Amino acid sequence: MTKINGFTRTCGLLGNPVEHTLSPVIHNFLARETGENLVYVPFLVPSGMAGDAVRGAYALNLKGLNVTVPYKTQVIPFLKELDGLAEQIGAVNTLVRCEGGFKGYNTDMPGLYRAMCRDGVKIEGENVLILGAGGVARAVAMLLAEKGAGRIVVLNRTKEHGEEIARTVNGYMGKDMVFAMGLSDYRSLPGDERYLCIQATNVGMYPKNGQAVIEAEDFYRRVHTGYDLIFNPAVTRFMELTKAAGGKAYNGSRMLLYQGIIAYELWTGIQIGEELADKAFEKMMEAMNQ
Ligand code: NAP
Repeated sequence: MTKINGFTRTCGLLGNPVEHTLSPVIHNFLARETGENLVYVPFLVPSGMAGDAVRGAYALNLKGLNVTVPYKTQVIPFLKELDGLAEQIGAVNTLVRCEGGFKGYNTDMPGLYRAMCRDGVKIEGENVLILGAGGVARAVAMLLAEKGAGRIVVLNRTKEHGEEIARTVNGYMGKDMVFAMGLSDYRSLPGDERYLCIQATNVGMYPKNGQAVIEAEDFYRRVHTGYDLIFNPAVTRFMELTKAAGGKAYNGSRMLLYQGIIAYELWTGIQIGEELADKAFEKMMEAMNQ
């Protein structure tokens, strides 16, 4: 634990609920290891008070904040500046103190990219399936398109939500590379090649363990690598089904780690190397398993 004195700076998490967050484990560990006089604490923000929380944090000289559900979009009107990527995604998860307020960033997507690189999952040239068409799926589609994926197919319960993602990303990229389908339409995927599949729904997340958005075995025969953005439980039903069909499977815990690491780098200007990142990952996993 950092020795708290008159120079100690505070960072924290705005959200509701915040009780089960692992972010304090990541940031307080990094502060200790990098010798920063900084503490990180969760702040439970009551519904409708996102603006008060941001203004109050500035008044209290907080150095930076993470933002989680349900405030990732709600805080945007209260920011002084918005990073280009966060604007494009339409959601922020990190606030960095600036002149007169906070600047908003989105470190979830660069976090996912660093996690996939670390896990050895290739994007460039890959044909990809995305399960889900919520806020995170939209950002994932944009990330994959920008990192040079091949065909991207969004499979979602509400096909219109996938179509909206396809319109946005194709418009931004200036070419048709994202296509939308209903969940059961996977049978009409062209050819017989296997895909990288990103699971971006909340189906299967604690406490609804044991569920997958698609249960059919033949779907998983079209998947060579399954990347679930859920990190609790550590092995989801989607991962089990992917592995049972011979694919590789990963969970969202490294994404969680790297979104935190990138936030920490933005707050402190300190770059976190892979060795320290791996130690932070171990700490996070220990806390998750307690
Ligand atoms: P969201 O905006 O609420 O979207 C949820 C998506 O799941 C929607 O497309 C919805 O379909 C679909 N869905 C929900 N229940 C369903 C059901 N019973 N059957 C079929 N589809 C269903 O959520 P989000 O903010 O994008 O988050 C998605 C996931 O990303 C969550 O699991 C979250 O934990 C994860 N995440 C992980 C990290 C990390 O660091 N690892 C960071 C951020 C988010 P409809 O469009 O039809 O409603």
